[in-house]
Amino acid sequence: MNWRHQPVCCSACPPGENYLEIMDAKPEPGPLSESSELFSFGVIADIQYADLEDGYNFQGSRRRYYRHSLLHLQGAIEHWNKESSPPSCVLQLGDIIDGYNAQYQASEKSLELIMNTFQRLKVPVHHTWGNHEFYNFSRDYLTNSKLNTKFLEDQIAHHPETVPSENYYAYHFVPFPKFRFILLDAYDMSVLGVDQSSPKYQQCLKILREHNPNTELNSPQGLAEPQFVQFNGGFSQEQLNWLNEVLTFSDRNQEKVVIVSHLPIYPEASDSVCLAWNYRDALAVIWSHKCVVCFFAGHTHDGGYSEDPFGVHHVNIEGVIETAPDSQAFGTVHVCPDKMMLKGRGRVPDRILNYKKERAFHF
Ligand SMILES: [Zn+2]
Repeated sequence: MNWRHQPVCCSACPPGENYLEIMDAKPEPGPLSESSELFSFGVIADIQYADLEDGYNFQGSRRRYYRHSLLHLQGAIEHWNKESSPPSCVLQLGDIIDGYNAQYQASEKSLELIMNTFQRLKVPVHHTWGNHEFYNFSRDYLTNSKLNTKFLEDQIAHHPETVPSENYYAYHFVPFPKFRFILLDAYDMSVLGVDQSSPKYQQCLKILREHNPNTELNSPQGLAEPQFVQFNGGFSQEQLNWLNEVLTFSDRNQEKVVIVSHLPIYPEASDSVCLAWNYRDALAVIWSHKCVVCFFAGHTHDGGYSEDPFGVHHVNIEGVIETAPDSQAFGTVHVCPDKMMLKGRGRVPDRILNYKKERAFHF
């Protein structure tokens, strides 16, 4: 057979997907059973829709296509709906509408437009919250909105320690046996979306000011730790303890774990100004377990990728908002027993995310 025209990596991947373009021109070794697709999921980040003319980012270096982002989302949804084996779910990585909406009293209208578009998607979508959610809405509003997808969580019987608290927006779910996804709240510790009269706001402002003496708290100028800016946030100890409990369960049950967060946590994969405040604390928890395979984040509109020394793949998905009308920005991750394969569209590159050898399933 002319294997060049066969999907050698994931037998269930649609033909003609050009995985081979990024692979060495050799068939994958090993039995076919290790190369078949188990399930897939979609990823999309930083849609930041607003009914506005195009603009630019803060530095003036990147064009932002506020209106066209809705068309990009529609294109992604049509694509996922048409896939021959539909994804099990889609991960929306946060910043679904732009902060400008608040200025124009258009937050609810824009959110409704985007959510109506998401309704066309035939599979569940899990929504993550980013800084732009909090520019538009309070945490209480978000909790009671359609952006709260906690009803999609799975619970682990007889393990109350794996139930998240109501103090942050995080949960876990199992789209396929032995694969657990954990959605984290990267603005659990933040001055955004918190009532300014609350002790938590005062606590977060204190942490921010201790690390950022600038008058403009959105400026990283001169900071030793540039992630300490107002547009970022962090994870509370309570949330990290919960994450630790879920990962302990996953380790014991030989599960593989995918973590989802608006903010990235690995410096090699991201501009340091985009990291979560206490990214080191999150990494320490993750690195103390063997189950985590992948960490997906948004927020860094240029995207990024790195595999850390513990074999965790950190993938930052390119933002829709800075994607030209003639391109695209979303992807489908095909999950195989020995690896995940991100098939990117437009400016999202293809990536092969091999599990560390000892983590590969042996059927
Ligand atoms: Zn963001």
